[in-house]
Amino acid sequence: MTSNRLIIAIDGPSASGKSTIAKLLSKKLGYTYLDTGAMYRALAWKALKKNMELNSEEEMSQLARHSSIRFYQQEDDYRIIIDGEDVSDKIRHPQVSEAASRISSFPGVRQTLVKIQREIGAKGGLVAEGRDVCTKVFPKADFKFYLDASLAERAHRRYLELKKSGIIAFEEKVKEDIERRDRSDSQRTHSPLTRGKGSIYIDTTDLTIEEVLNLTLEKIKFREEDFFILDKD
Ligand code: C5P
Repeated sequence: MTSNRLIIAIDGPSASGKSTIAKLLSKKLGYTYLDTGAMYRALAWKALKKNMELNSEEEMSQLARHSSIRFYQQEDDYRIIIDGEDVSDKIRHPQVSEAASRISSFPGVRQTLVKIQREIGAKGGLVAEGRDVCTKVFPKADFKFYLDASLAERAHRRYLELKKSGIIAFEEKVKEDIERRDRSDSQRTHSPLTRGKGSIYIDTTDLTIEEVLNLTLEKIKFREEDFFILDKD
């Protein structure tokens, strides 16, 4: 029997289903859910609001160091607060996605956010998702997953998500944005999105949410009170 405070890390490109699965897993296991992308988004939102120079590594790194970012989780409600302001709904706008991707390429920004992420995970009992949580933030996570899906499927999912939250977008434009952002996230020098060693790859293109959840749970075999790690392959 091992500790029941595991760390589960999930990486993957935009709209690959990471957030949905990470939230469901964390709920099922009674763990904390960590959306690392929301942290880059919150910071980007603040930079945009303050009309700052997004291309300045120095300014963005300072902004990261001087911002207070925290999460608030109550049952199914996951909120992100920056400097006391709840920005959970504001950070989903495509303009913020683009800005988040830009500032996330700066090592000074990443260093500050990764430190906070590791603090949140220090006691275990965490499901974290992002672009570098398997490779950089929690390379020794108990379980590592890489979720993927075809570009067309991911664009469609993101389009529906935006529509649901009242943001009008053209699916073709959403596809272009996602493709550009993925390219930039995968090709940057620091902590690029990559399928790291030891990650379990799941192509979610033709799978339902339930099927993906079951696949991940099959790997993380558990009992209600204690977890028994039966299969680490
Ligand atoms: O996951 P999400 O789409 O919300 O992430 C927004 C952006 O934040 C990504 O496109 C990526 O540039 C950046 N990010 C990152 N590292 C993470 C999570 C997100 O660089 N761990």
